[in-house]
Amino acid sequence: METIVEYTDTKVPLNQYPHRIISPSQSGPCCFSETEAVGPVEHGDRWVYRYKRCRACGFTVRVVLREVGCAETRTRPWGTKRGSGVVVLVTRRDSASLRRTLDG
Ligand SMILES: [Zn+2]
Repeated sequence: METIVEYTDTKVPLNQYPHRIISPSQSGPCCFSETEAVGPVEHGDRWVYRYKRCRACGFTVRVVLREVGCAETRTRPWGTKRGSGVVVLVTRRDSASLRRTLDG
């Protein structure tokens, strides 16, 4: 998965969230107690995650909170009308509730 964290020991640790974060390549003893969340919880293609960064040394990890449930956030083309140029994107949950509505 894509990450904004660059692990290096040749640059000064830097927090430029959400563009990039420069982190030392190794965590230290400080990282157990000094780690704080950086930015909001993010939803990737497969994972819900957030970055956590050590206040003391700048070591940053991406913490996966849970797997994305495919019924919850995946979108896919649905109800495409050929030639109309209109693509309606709905989640599966949306289409299920829509079907319920149509079924009465
Ligand atoms: Zn640390």
